[in-house]
Amino acid sequence: MKNRVFIKGLSSHIGKTVAIAGWVSVRRDQGKMVFFDFRDMTGNVQGVVLTKSPALDAAKEVTVESAVQVGGVINKRPLKNVQADKQNGDIELQIESIEMLSKAQTLPFELGTELNLDTHLDNLPLTLRTQRSRDIFEMQSSILEAYRASLKRQHFTEFEAPALVGGDAEGGAAAFKVEYFKDTVAYLATSPQFYKQIMVGPFERAFTVAKIFRAEKSATTRHLSEATCLDFEMGFIESEREPMAILEKAIQDTVQAVAEQHADIFKRFNTSPPKIPGPPAGGIPILTLAEAHETLGVAPEPDMAPEHERGICEWAKKEKGSDFVFITRFPTAKRAFYTYEDPTEAPLSRGFDLLFRGLEINSGAQRIHDYDSLIGRMNERGLDPEKFAFYLQAFKYGMPPHGGSSTGLERFTARMLEIANVKEATAFPRDMTRIDTRLSE
Ligand code: ATP
Ligand code: MG
Repeated sequence: MKNRVFIKGLSSHIGKTVAIAGWVSVRRDQGKMVFFDFRDMTGNVQGVVLTKSPALDAAKEVTVESAVQVGGVINKRPLKNVQADKQNGDIELQIESIEMLSKAQTLPFELGTELNLDTHLDNLPLTLRTQRSRDIFEMQSSILEAYRASLKRQHFTEFEAPALVGGDAEGGAAAFKVEYFKDTVAYLATSPQFYKQIMVGPFERAFTVAKIFRAEKSATTRHLSEATCLDFEMGFIESEREPMAILEKAIQDTVQAVAEQHADIFKRFNTSPPKIPGPPAGGIPILTLAEAHETLGVAPEPDMAPEHERGICEWAKKEKGSDFVFITRFPTAKRAFYTYEDPTEAPLSRGFDLLFRGLEINSGAQRIHDYDSLIGRMNERGLDPEKFAFYLQAFKYGMPPHGGSSTGLERFTARMLEIANVKEATAFPRDMTRIDTRLSE
């Protein structure tokens, strides 16, 4: 828009006539005067239509959330009206003209009032405009950027994994079936796992930001039907400790970046950037599954129950000053078929989970790299190697010992801001009952 000034820069235009464009966040009528809060992508500013303003008639039409172009003079506020803690709290736009670009109808509710999750989700085109939602997705965008940058610095090459696959990659997780041309069934990928392992061949270190689709019938606060995962895989490792170290660095870099960029968002969410103990305390604490259960004083189990995930995170926070904790050495039988098991460590595997503020946000492992062992494991699990022929090529032609991990972007974002339900940390969540609109029973 020609001659438009962004709201963030208005304080350098005191005494000058400017044009801004944006949305109306608030309208307040005081006698014949009208006050507005305007917002654009750079911030907020208060405007006032004085009784003698030529914009007085136009102002009558202006409803909350209308998109407008506004002209006027930037004035310093009288000292008694200064709001020092607010952006542009010391200035005011004295409005001379208002051009309506698109008038908003009456809103179904006042924006910013607390809504139940279903109402919020039913009205996303509107509710995504709230400060809270904008904060969440600005945070998510920064997480993604920082995580990517960290992996790139650690010598990983990004590639695009397919969303349409010929079989269910995990050979277990429920996959959505898709009609694929004539007489063929395809699936939506439940994980980019096979493709990132294949990409160890060309790149040695590869990562992808991929959509995963899971048809599990689970209605929880941590499951989506469509999620975004940050997956990496690396070659020439000795154990799962190397991918854990790469992951820890990526998490550290991400936390540092968002702490620097978004102090205001953490404050608005009543939380603070997560803590990771630095040296010499030794970074993110690592417990084996057995140690975790022992620490909690509960009987050994083959997996972590959600309440134990929460319990061990409380322990890590209190005893180690860490918002993150690694759990390793799960029974091989509980992990995906391609998980490596060292003969000296059987029946435990080299898989790991990373928990963050009470929730699993990442799973990873050293993988089987030997062709014959992989075939053997498939047979043990009743999987038909014929069906994995495409993937198995990677192992026929020189696959080094390798491993990697997968972080759920929505869960990471949700725990970063201590949001209870992962759906609120997903711009357009899909679950059993909803694809944008509610599905009929
Ligand atoms: P859970 O045990 O909590 O159901 P999972 O172990 O099945 O998760 P993985 O296959 O390990 O999940 O996927 C790696 C990561 O991807 C998880 O740690 C999580 O952050 C994310 N993720 C997986 N499935 C979902 C889902 N349905 N909704 C949201 N995030 C998911
Ligand atoms: Mg997992």
